[in-house]
Amino acid sequence: MDMRIALVPGDGIGPDIVSEAVRVLDRVASRFGHTVSYKEIDAGGISIDKYGIPLTEDAFESAKQADAVLLGAVGGPKWDTLPGAKRPEKALLGLRSGLGLFCNFRPAVIYPELSAASPLKDQIIGKGVDLLVVRELTGGIYFGERGRSDDGEEAYDTMRYSKAEITRIARKAFEAAMIRKKRVTLVDKANVLESSRLWRETVSELAPSYPEVTLDFMYVDNASMQLVRNPLHFDVLLTENMFGDILSDEASMITGSIGMLSSASLREDSYGMYEPIHGSAPDIAGKDVANPIATILSTASMLRYSFSLEKEATAIEDAVKSALADGVRTRDIAIEGEKTVGTKECGREIEERI
Ligand code: NAD
Repeated sequence: MDMRIALVPGDGIGPDIVSEAVRVLDRVASRFGHTVSYKEIDAGGISIDKYGIPLTEDAFESAKQADAVLLGAVGGPKWDTLPGAKRPEKALLGLRSGLGLFCNFRPAVIYPELSAASPLKDQIIGKGVDLLVVRELTGGIYFGERGRSDDGEEAYDTMRYSKAEITRIARKAFEAAMIRKKRVTLVDKANVLESSRLWRETVSELAPSYPEVTLDFMYVDNASMQLVRNPLHFDVLLTENMFGDILSDEASMITGSIGMLSSASLREDSYGMYEPIHGSAPDIAGKDVANPIATILSTASMLRYSFSLEKEATAIEDAVKSALADGVRTRDIAIEGEKTVGTKECGREIEERI
C-alpha cells in the first residue's frame, strides 16, 4: 500500500515524539512491504511565528490532500497571551472542523506492567483494562443554539441531535467493536433527556446489522462510577459530545500515564487525524525525556482505521508491550529506582521489536 501522511509536529515536544513515530512507521512499512511518504506541515505556535496565524490555507490544503494526518501537539507559554482566535489551539479546531472529523476515538489502556501508575487497585484492573471511548465530536450541546435573556438573568444551551448524526457515529462504534471484544455500551441520560431517547432508539435500530456485537445501555452518572468501580465491563463506550468529553478524560486518568494514550478523529471515509492526548509539555521540550509511546500508538490507530492494516497495527502495539515487558521506561512511567531511557532510545527499542 502507498500511504501519504501529513505530518504536523507542532510545538514543544511535538517534533521529538513525532520523529520517533516516523521511525517506527518506516520500519513497519519496510517490514510489511508498503511505501509511506510524508508532507510536513506547520501548525500551531510555529505557524504563528512564521506566518502570523496558527494554520495557513496552504497547510490546511496539504492536510486535506493527504490520506491521514499525524500530529504531535501545539501550544506553549510563548503564545499564551494571544487572543482566542489567534492561539495555537485554533489550528487543531480548524483541522478537526474543516476536515469534518465528527468521530473521536480515545482508547484507555492499563498495561499490566504499568499498573502501579494507575490510581485503581490491582483487583479492579485484573489482567489489564482496554476500553475505547467513542465520542461524537461535532454536534450536541457544544454546537446547539445558546443565548441569554435580555436582562442577562437567564441563559440556555441546546442539545440537539439528528438520527443521521447518531447513525454515522454509531456505525463507527460497532465497526470498532467488531475488531475488538464485540461489546458496545451506549452511555446516555435517557431517563431524562429526549435527545438521549433518540440515541437509544437509533442505536437499537442499527444493532441488528451487527449481530455479533452485544449492545447495552448505561446512564452517564452510573458510567462515571463504573469506570472506576468496574472498568473491565467496558469494551466500546459510545456517547454524545459533552458526556464523551468528560468520560474520556476520566477514562484516561484511570490509566495514570498521559504519555501513553492516543486519539483518533475520524469521518465517514477512511481519512483520519491521529495524535497523542497530551499537550506540548514545554517543560521538557527538546530534552530527550518525553515519552513517545502515545504518538507511536497513534500511528498504530492510523494503520488500523485509515488503512485497514490490522496486522501492521498489532505489530506496533505488540512491540510497545514487549518493550514495556522488558523494562523500557521513559521518566514519566518509571517508578522510583527504575532505570529510564530517553525519547530516542525508547523509539529505537520499539522499532527494533517490529
Ligand atoms: P501537557 O499535556 O503538555 O503537560 C502536562 C504534564 O504532563 C507536564 O508535566 C508534561 O511534562 C507531562 N507530559 C505531557 N506529555 C508527556 C509525554 N509525552 N512524556 C512525558 N511527560 C509528558 O499539558 P499542559 O502543561 O496543560 O499544556 C502545555 C501546552 O500544551 C499548553 O500550551 C496547552 O494549551 C497545550 N495543549 C495542547 C494539546 C494538543 O496539542 N492536543 C492538548 C493539551 C494541551
